[in-house]
This record gives sequence, structure tokens and C-alpha cells, in this order.
Amino acid sequence: MAPEVSAKSTDAARDTDPGPLVPEAYRPAPAADQPADPATVAGEANGSAGGRRRAPTEEKTKRQRRLEYPPAPEPLGVPVVDNHTHLDFRDGLVSVDVHQAMDAAEAVGVVGAIQVGCDVESARFTIEAIEAESRLLGAVAIHPNDAARLAERGHLDAALAEIETLAAHPRVRAVGETGLDYYRTGPEGVGDQQEAFRWHLELAHRLGKAVQIHDRDAHEDVVRILLDTPNRPERVVFHCFSGDAELARICNEQGWYMSFAGPVTFKANEELRGALAEAREELLLVETDAPFLTPHPWRGRPNAPYLVPLTLRGMAETRGAEADALAAAVAENTRRVYGYF
Ligand SMILES: [Zn+2]
Ligand SMILES: [Zn+2]
Repeated sequence: MAPEVSAKSTDAARDTDPGPLVPEAYRPAPAADQPADPATVAGEANGSAGGRRRAPTEEKTKRQRRLEYPPAPEPLGVPVVDNHTHLDFRDGLVSVDVHQAMDAAEAVGVVGAIQVGCDVESARFTIEAIEAESRLLGAVAIHPNDAARLAERGHLDAALAEIETLAAHPRVRAVGETGLDYYRTGPEGVGDQQEAFRWHLELAHRLGKAVQIHDRDAHEDVVRILLDTPNRPERVVFHCFSGDAELARICNEQGWYMSFAGPVTFKANEELRGALAEAREELLLVETDAPFLTPHPWRGRPNAPYLVPLTLRGMAETRGAEADALAAAVAENTRRVYGYF
């Protein structure tokens, strides 16, 4: 796609060049009752209508977050797709609809996204979104943390039955995110998470769709369950890959895809970059997991698909690759996993 920055190259334009801009839809509208610096408003204090609020995090309760969206990065030379985003979770100072989100993304070479519905409400949103916006494909499942909570209340079976129906939609190309989360769910939820994970694997296999795995502090059990499930789907994606080089080697052997998100750009995550360096190029994907996990240098700010170029360039640097060549490989891998838009 043609970069839209060429107008800045004239001398006249340079004098008044405002620098990199936040995409219009992501800029807060000035309001009479708004404080002078909206960036310092505390996390929960604001609220325009629409969208689900991002859940409060420890990060948010300990200190104030800056809520403005970051400026748009330089466009990618070769377009890619955001492999995992939650456009229904609103964060920051503004509410952005799916078309605006994808316009901002496309302007920097992020030409599509996989919208992930991770509970029944969000899966319903996903179906509406993929029917309304051609640059989106969908993934639906019950997130492992929700699976444990719903099972405790006896509501899991009904939720899974609805996911099964929604997953059959032709533009839903993956079952996910499913898997195991031993960080947020205690030992009492492990059995329910594992059972729900197996159920989702079997569903993806039966429907011939990919599976997007959420694996938090549970690498060993995720790998064990994948290997003992004879009817596992052909295309397996570790979303927000968080393993080390050893897990990357297992993925390399098994042909499992590794989708990297913002954390691979964080200074402290050397081990994760070690995994990225180890991964076979034909298994690499890129994602935001927006509105979470905003890449460097905007960590802690709200995230959105238009920020994928920062992660992609960080990945290229780690691998000593050209960004365009890596983007081309990632784009091809994405088509192999999810098909065409
Ligand atoms: Zn996840
Ligand atoms: Zn997610």
C-alpha cells in the first residue's frame, strides 16, 4: 500500500510538520468539562458511551495510566494482519468503532485483523463485527479464566453450546482464545480449564479451523494436552507467545505457529527474544492483543491494531531481518492459518 507520509517531504510542509499524529478516530474530542491535560485522568474516571471497558489491572490501580493513544508509526512497506485483537474492549479516552479502527490500521499497512471473542457476549460482538467489516475475520471461544468461573456456577455447558454455534460462521476462522491460565486462575480451576481446552481443540478439529491458544504460566500442560489430543486441529497458534527457546523448539518441531505481541519489544524480555530468534520464519505471526500489551515505547498506553508496525519492526531487529521481508513471511503465514479475507 502507498505510504501516506509523502506530503511531509516538502520544505514548506516540514516547517509546520506536527510530527507523527495519533489517528483521528483515536484523538479525544475536546470537551468543556475535560481537564486541561486529559493524559493524566485516572483510569476509571472517564467514560464516553459504548464498548466494554478494559478490566482494571494491577498496573492501573497502583498508578495512573496515560490514556491517550500513541501516534501512528511509520507505515509498513509490506502489509500484514493483526492476528489477535479485542476491538470490543474499550480503553483510553475514546470509543472507536471497528471501521475506524481498521481505517487507522490500514493507513500504516495493517490491512486486516482477527477479532477475538473470548466469552459469549464478546463472541456475539465478533460475529456482528466480521459481518459489518470486511477487513476482519473472527475467532471465538470461552477464555480459560471464564471457563473456570462459568463452570463453578454451572453455566459453562450453555456457554460452550453457543460458542459451538457461532464458531461455525464462515468468517470465524479460528477457535480461540482457549488454553490454560495458571496465573489468574488458582488450582481449583485447573480441571475445568483443562476440560474446556480439550473441548475447544476437538471443536476446532471438527470444524477444520485453526485454534488460538492462550498459555499463561502453563507451558508444560498446554504442550502435554496438545500432544495427547489425537483430534487436535491442524493449525495451532500460540497467541501472545510467552515461552522460552525450548518451547519455540517444540513449536518448530510440531509446526505450531508463534504469534508475538508487544512484550517482545520490552527491554527486560531477553528470554522471549531468545525464543523469537529460535522460531522458524514460516511459523511466525504478529499481533497486538489490543487494548493490552502496547509495544515499546508506548508501554502502558492503550493499544490498537495500528500499532502492529512497532512490534513487527522490533521482531525484525531481533532476528536481524529486513522488516519488509519479515512482513512478507508473516503475511503468508497468516493466510496459511486463516485463509483469505
Ligand atoms: Zn490471551
Ligand atoms: Zn486476547
